[in-house]
Amino acid sequence: MEQRTRRIANVMTAGPASTHARLNAEFLAQLGRYDHVTRLPNRLQFIDHFDDFAQSDRPTMLVLLTLADAKHYNEILRALGLAFSEDFVRAGADLLASLLPSDTVIYHVSVLSFIIALPVETVDTHPVAAARIASAFSGALHINAIPIKTQVGVGLLPADAQRGAAESLRAALVAAQDSRDAPNGVAFYNHKSDTAHLRAFRLLADMPRAIASSDQLSLHYQPRIDLQTGQCHGAEALLRWNHPEFGPVSPAEFVPLAEQTVLITPLTDWVMTHAMAQNRQFLDAGHNLRMSINASPVNLSEDDFDKVLLDRCDSAGLEPRHLELEFTEGTLATNSARAIHQLTNLREAGIAVALDDFGSGYSNLSYITHIPADVLKIDQSFVRPLKESGDDDFLVRHIISITQGLGFRVCAEGIETAHAYTRLRDLGCEEGQGYFMARPMPADSLLDWLDARG
Ligand code: C2E
Ligand code: MG
Ligand code: MG
Repeated sequence: MEQRTRRIANVMTAGPASTHARLNAEFLAQLGRYDHVTRLPNRLQFIDHFDDFAQSDRPTMLVLLTLADAKHYNEILRALGLAFSEDFVRAGADLLASLLPSDTVIYHVSVLSFIIALPVETVDTHPVAAARIASAFSGALHINAIPIKTQVGVGLLPADAQRGAAESLRAALVAAQDSRDAPNGVAFYNHKSDTAHLRAFRLLADMPRAIASSDQLSLHYQPRIDLQTGQCHGAEALLRWNHPEFGPVSPAEFVPLAEQTVLITPLTDWVMTHAMAQNRQFLDAGHNLRMSINASPVNLSEDDFDKVLLDRCDSAGLEPRHLELEFTEGTLATNSARAIHQLTNLREAGIAVALDDFGSGYSNLSYITHIPADVLKIDQSFVRPLKESGDDDFLVRHIISITQGLGFRVCAEGIETAHAYTRLRDLGCEEGQGYFMARPMPADSLLDWLDARG
């Protein structure tokens, strides 16, 4: 505390006091370099001092401490209020100061983050202070006698002039976030994990343009086969993104990213519109297919998704029986009442509903009787082990028998071999999809494939 009082006193008297206006300007400029909650020098001050660290004769390690993630901090804010939350940040600053020599400057660089620059022998070993900080923050911070749990991260990054101050702060913050998974709570900046995050960020930033453009997104269609007759009555629309820089990006990578943002709404809308228009063309070409569209749990937690889907169906000149909506088990875990209501509406309107990847998620046997679906698509992980004769089919056999007993039709995903095909057919599984029959393909190829089968 004494240290902090000393710092602020320096600010108050800083600069020549020749004119009142000049004093104010300098005072304000100085004030802008200090955090008002902790009265520690802030990010601007760190940026100003960065070159001194980076160009120092001795190697210097930047150590960034985050007290909590934003969600955790918001919970503290909601439960205990703003003043208390500021006390929390101040308590963090005080604990950090108590662990460091008195001449170490602590910079308060964002609401919940502090950075210090420590001289080190080599830039590839953890400074002792880093582990000491991680360990000291592993307990609770006591604020007004209330123990508050922190969620600290301690990130390490050698100060390097080439990286620059702002980029160093960002990279040190990435390291601090990564450190939450590290055994001793301290992590070096890891270019690989950062690259993955940067890629995710780029994909999200580029997604609106992809949705608006006419040549980045496309749909591939995978035939769905009636295993008992060998006929194709349906196809699943699967989204493809050819990114201008990264090339083809898997939906397994970009759909979950879109689901974290509002972009999943226009993305699903794009899929619905294009898949339905394409199904109209398949019908016009004499192929009576039911088109399956994948919905994200987020879509079914939106208010009007069922109405939008039926509206799009009507505009495309399709009847509800020409469509199927696939949803995953996660849908029922999020906003289950609304999702169930919408799925029920869609089924009543005549759109088939399928539970995708059955068995891979929140499999809770008691909910299976309440699933608002016509079809259960058994997850590939149960089907893949059936590669050749003698392979274990215990689970698949019983899943088929239980789900059929409950009145669902069963579709097996990921059929890759002739053995899996015949085994599933003999077990009474109604439908299947898989590379053995056909891979997902562009619409033109599907037309050729369908025509060739007669
Ligand atoms: P999904 O809906 O379960 O789709 C089946 C995935 O399995 C597809 O991967 C398909 O290409 C692949 N597959 C089909 N047969 C086989 C097989 O025999 N062996 C193997 N190893 N794989 C097979 P894809 O196209 O990469 O899509 C991955 C996932 O991305 C989809 O899983 C779905 O969850 C999601 N996805 C794709 N398109 C959309 C979309 O338009 N909207 C939403 N919300 N999700 C989508
Ligand atoms: Mg699917
Ligand atoms: Mg699936």
